[in-house]
Amino acid sequence: MNSQLTAYITLICTSGVLNVYLCSYVIVKRHHYINIANFFNLYTVSITIYCFASAFGLMATAIEQIKLWTIIQYVGMPFSPPLGLLFIMQYLGMKIMKKRCMALFIIPFVSLVMVATNDFHHLHYRVFEVDQSLGAPYIHQEIGIWYMIHGVFTFACMFVAFLLVLSHWKETAKIYRPQLISLFCGQLVPMLTAFVYLLGLTPPGIDPVPMVLWLSSLLYLWSINSSRMFTIMPIAKDAIFNSINDGVIVLDDSNRLIEFNRACKSMFPLLNKSMFGMDFEKAWFELSGDSFPSKFETESLTMEIQLATEHLKRIFQVRTSSLQHANNSKGLLIIFTDITELKRLQMELEYQAYYDELTKIYNRRAFFQKCEQEFAAAREDSSPFSIVLIDIDYFKRVNDTYGHHVGDQLLLHVVKVCQSQLKEGTLFARYGGEEFVLALKGRTGLEGKELANQLRRHVEARPLITTEGVISVTLSSGVAEATKETEETLYQLLNKADQALYSAKREGRNQVHVYTEILCTTNLT
Ligand code: GH3
Ligand code: MG
Ligand code: MG
Repeated sequence: MNSQLTAYITLICTSGVLNVYLCSYVIVKRHHYINIANFFNLYTVSITIYCFASAFGLMATAIEQIKLWTIIQYVGMPFSPPLGLLFIMQYLGMKIMKKRCMALFIIPFVSLVMVATNDFHHLHYRVFEVDQSLGAPYIHQEIGIWYMIHGVFTFACMFVAFLLVLSHWKETAKIYRPQLISLFCGQLVPMLTAFVYLLGLTPPGIDPVPMVLWLSSLLYLWSINSSRMFTIMPIAKDAIFNSINDGVIVLDDSNRLIEFNRACKSMFPLLNKSMFGMDFEKAWFELSGDSFPSKFETESLTMEIQLATEHLKRIFQVRTSSLQHANNSKGLLIIFTDITELKRLQMELEYQAYYDELTKIYNRRAFFQKCEQEFAAAREDSSPFSIVLIDIDYFKRVNDTYGHHVGDQLLLHVVKVCQSQLKEGTLFARYGGEEFVLALKGRTGLEGKELANQLRRHVEARPLITTEGVISVTLSSGVAEATKETEETLYQLLNKADQALYSAKREGRNQVHVYTEILCTTNLT
């Protein structure tokens, strides 16, 4: 055996051994490689068969032996391109349909049968004989029609796999690109070699592809060991990253922007890839026109950010969480959840829960909640506290005479007139149908009476003008001041104001009464 042949066989065996190693490595660590293990292993097995059969073929001395080893080569070789394609599809997170997957193996299987039975039909090799001038194991072959089909199919599989890898280049984060490069070159090397072989530019009589497959295997091996290819499925992870509805921004350990997902881009239209490497504070200022409200001193924080820029009027819930990179450097994830709609609904519900639908002032529930606080605060700092209950006189008549809608108008009118006389922040609420209540922190009963009279006079002086006529209206009020007794509750105080109001009604309406023990005992008898 000449030294050139020995070199060929060594190269081919190297490819074979590397593939055995690759296959065993992935089998042993299959729990890491669940997603791609099956196709990747079949791929390496098919290449191993191809390589070793090719090496044994080169040791053959007779045409019968060469033919046998060629048939064995075909047990592996035609299947490796479709298996390689399937493995890459799986790696890229593409959906593989069982039927289509099976269809990919029809041509390889026919090729195997064709080679095994070539002596009967010569459709694969028209001529397949020992090269006259070089002798065994060098072959002189003339290709047949099926060889062409097999060749085109093989090329197509490798080419499609190659294109798939290429098409994912742009959307793959930089740190995963070495993996893509190794896949890319792993496909390119045998493809180019086969192409050069078909052009007749390689040494005659032997197939050079198995001789270069060690290069592809080395690339895969390097990827597996150095960048943990296949355990981290970059494309699948990118797909997940980009399909999260929350906006995610990734910062490196110096708080520089290194990645963002699609949702983030739609949340912040000004965000773009040219900002990669930019300090986050600066990037945020460009996006929002404001400084970021946190310095990321703690590892994880949750807050709300309201943006009201020309481009962006939204509320975000922002969470941060620390990120450990593969190379042990730390980073930060900033997760943005758009809660604008949620906030709007929350505010609407809150509004409905605390405001009166017709008059838009506090309702009874809000009154009690707020008044309890003011009542307690007044007691705490020993300041006076009064309640004024206001009731529209003969309101039912308005409803009965003009209709309910005019009654509503009158309620609104009374509220408006009262509000015009009240200081901002005074607790004023609709207590019932046509009853209103005032909580006056820091004011005595007499001061409350004064205010109630002021309101009464204003309302009396401003009748409601409607299309149906001018409707005069008066108010009656009951005032009660909190005593210094600590046991007195807000309900008791309201009850006293109610008694005073009852007294004012009894005395002829359009007047204000202040609760006193004597007044109410006489009135109630
Ligand atoms: P008084 O001087 O004794 O207070 O007599 P009044 O007619 O004002 O009091 P009464 O309690 O007899 O009637 C109150 C009426 O207010 C009865 C109810 O139908 C009406 N009312 C309650 N809520 C509303 C409302 O939201 N809109 C309208 N239009 N009427 C209402
Ligand atoms: Mg009334
Ligand atoms: Mg009433």
